[in-house]
Amino acid sequence: MKLKTKIHLFSTVLMLFILALSNSGIYVIFKQLAYTTEYQQLIHRSKELTEGLSRVHDEEEVSDVLRTYINPESMLRVTDEEGKEIKTLVSTKELENYELSFDEDDYSIGQVNGAAVMMTKVPVIWLDGDVAYIEIAQILRDSSRSLHLLKFILLGVTLLAMIPITLSSMTLGKVVTQPIFKLIATMRASRKSGKYEKLAALDGKDELAEMSQTFNEMMEQLEQNYQKQEKFVSNASHELKTPLTIMEGYGRLLKRQGFDNKQVADEALTAILNETARMKELIEQMLQMAKSKDPLAFTFAQADVTQIVKETVEPLRVASGRTITFADPGRLPVSTDEKRLKQLLFILLDNARKYSDGEIQVRAWQEERAVVMEVQDHGEGIDAQHLPHLFDRFYRVQEDRARKTGGTGLGLAIAKDLANGIRAELQVESVRGDGTTMRITLPR
Ligand code: ADP
Repeated sequence: MKLKTKIHLFSTVLMLFILALSNSGIYVIFKQLAYTTEYQQLIHRSKELTEGLSRVHDEEEVSDVLRTYINPESMLRVTDEEGKEIKTLVSTKELENYELSFDEDDYSIGQVNGAAVMMTKVPVIWLDGDVAYIEIAQILRDSSRSLHLLKFILLGVTLLAMIPITLSSMTLGKVVTQPIFKLIATMRASRKSGKYEKLAALDGKDELAEMSQTFNEMMEQLEQNYQKQEKFVSNASHELKTPLTIMEGYGRLLKRQGFDNKQVADEALTAILNETARMKELIEQMLQMAKSKDPLAFTFAQADVTQIVKETVEPLRVASGRTITFADPGRLPVSTDEKRLKQLLFILLDNARKYSDGEIQVRAWQEERAVVMEVQDHGEGIDAQHLPHLFDRFYRVQEDRARKTGGTGLGLAIAKDLANGIRAELQVESVRGDGTTMRITLPR
């Protein structure tokens, strides 16, 4: 069943149910009120009757009194204590032979020819001093008629109300489903064209407007991701193509003259090995990047930042023979993924090593809500115009310089992913000609 039909059906049934419930309530209350009024009148008359009877001295007069007090369309019957009939008077044929019945309540209601009959009985002291009962039955002609009329009116109102209810529920179904149809149509169009189609913006601030806005945002993001992916593939193939072209060139050179000329063979083989190493690094970094995007790859535990910095700096100092200073700030406890933080620090330290010649300074300290680490070099620095792109994949400030240093342009992109993974902030400050400072802010 279509959503529109479901909403239409559901709201119609619900409205009808509410209407029927309230109409039944009105009917029951009205009926109760009418019967209570009738009962009070009946009791009032029965009091007058008992007063009249109390002035009577012999049975002859009883009939006269009953005749005086009897109402149209009613019955009066006097019974003794056991319920044996003493006298009966009927003012309508309808109640002749009518079987009276009484229950615990003040009155009971019966039916005669489609009209309600109210029955009640009151005790009196009879002529002989014994207790007797006056049983009264009264046809509630007017009340029955009114109730009958009310029933028809309420039924009519319900039927009439069906028209606006149906119309409004149909409109409701349309209002709710129209944006969904648009959404489906846009999705179909997207699928057919292969493009990231967007919805026309809906006015207002309701959930439907929010839904179309969210859909557009999702499409936007998908498109951006797709473009990023495409760019990555084209960059990666370009990066892989360069060393392959170099290797191919040297391979040909080797084939042409390598076997006769040892120097050429040596040069070609060195170049081929260098490019192989470069390709290996590139592929390793691409794998690393896939891993550092996965939030499940991060496991957090208590760690000491000072210890982590020391363990990262030391091997690099030994391997590169560079001066790397780090003043021990004492224990700096944080909850982090130690392995990932080390990888992140290593990328920053390695860059400082690659892009500067002098001393590298590493600092770490504790702030109120964070532990901060800085890697500072005094190399060439980076022009301000490059800073916003520094963390993009394959971005290199100077192609030639990076090639000389063997960079791939992936290091800082991986660093950014790692920082995101350990919920750290990664910032860069650099002045051309003065050096670069990379800062990791790790929340505590
Ligand atoms: P790469 O593998 O080329 O080093 P990165 O993503 O690590 O790639 O860095 C991107 C670019 O940012 C580098 O090519 C380099 O030009 C510049 N860069 C990074 N760190 C520094 C630094 N400490 N000093 C100067 N330039 C830097």
